[in-house]
Amino acid sequence: MTNEDYSSIKQLLSSKKNIVIVPHKNPDGDAIGSSLGLYHYLKKYNHEVTVIAPNDYPDFLKWMPSETSILKYELQQEDCDTVINQADIIFTLDFNALNRIGDMETPIQSAKGIKIMIDHHQQPDDYALYMYSDVSMSSTCEMVYNFICNLGDKDSIDQDISTCLYTGIMTDTGSFRFPSTTSTTHKVIANLIEKGANNAQIHNNIYDTNTYSRLQLLGCALSNLKVLPEYRTAYISLSQQELNTFNFKKGDTEGFVNYGLSLEGIVFAVIFIENEQENIVKVSLRSKGAFSVNEFSRAHFNGGGHTNAAGGKSDLGLKETIEKFISILPSYKEVLNHE
Ligand code: 5GP
Ligand code: MN
Repeated sequence: MTNEDYSSIKQLLSSKKNIVIVPHKNPDGDAIGSSLGLYHYLKKYNHEVTVIAPNDYPDFLKWMPSETSILKYELQQEDCDTVINQADIIFTLDFNALNRIGDMETPIQSAKGIKIMIDHHQQPDDYALYMYSDVSMSSTCEMVYNFICNLGDKDSIDQDISTCLYTGIMTDTGSFRFPSTTSTTHKVIANLIEKGANNAQIHNNIYDTNTYSRLQLLGCALSNLKVLPEYRTAYISLSQQELNTFNFKKGDTEGFVNYGLSLEGIVFAVIFIENEQENIVKVSLRSKGAFSVNEFSRAHFNGGGHTNAAGGKSDLGLKETIEKFISILPSYKEVLNHE
């Protein structure tokens, strides 16, 4: 985004507007945090602002300031369509292709509002008039922080904005440990704490709200963990039946895939989660080093993401999906062993 773009956006925001903010489907901490952080910023200027999530999200995100104002497209389609059609400006946050918002793809595609993308995933599509796309960024929340600063409004960052932005930076960086965490990220985080983000409380709200059944599900996942040393790969599967046994709720499997990657010598970890309702297997992929799970997921699982964290899906059954995965690995043997 150029200085001219920022001037134009500042001009655009200088009078009251109807604004819609859209995070990706199955929103995570960064998607909800960036959406609500931007929401609180825009509300300061008296804009009419609505965050519309394509679908529901985990309970561990349901404490964030103004979270209850978020509309869910899957539940209130008609109301949401009205708001979308009236929008002068549509911010799309933490995704870069409209197929990432499920049933909202068509209404957003055809909406008349000016689209502004803020995102850190690879290979962005070209649907937005203003694009702030930077794959080197730790999180969309860090980018929303920069966006506000570049509009000359750093001083307007308050406790609500800080709390939301801190949350997304924390979740997308694995609590500041992934390589995407830079010294600048830490400076931003320091500023957010100064502006009122309660770091210990936020960490507690996100990570220390486990249920007993979730820990049992984790036990099940870990007992299903398989290691393929010749490919420096580990994978976990969870069938719908296993999910049902442990009373699965949205978000319960968050972070499970990382256990595979914590094994010594493993550079590629995957989790396959059966979803009978959608008739798919959700695939989450993580890597260490140069092996790109974004490329792997694009090539084989209809997905994408970042070099070291990506997602995708399979229309095959759980067993067939895993068989397909294992059959693909030999062609990556060399690159996986050169990490
Ligand atoms: P997760 O595995 O935690 O669902 O997602 C890891 C990363 O990949 C996130 O940045 C997420 O936005 C992205 N991602 C997850 N699922 C998909 C997908 O189906 N398609 C694409 N393009 N990206 C995905
Ligand atoms: Mn993100």
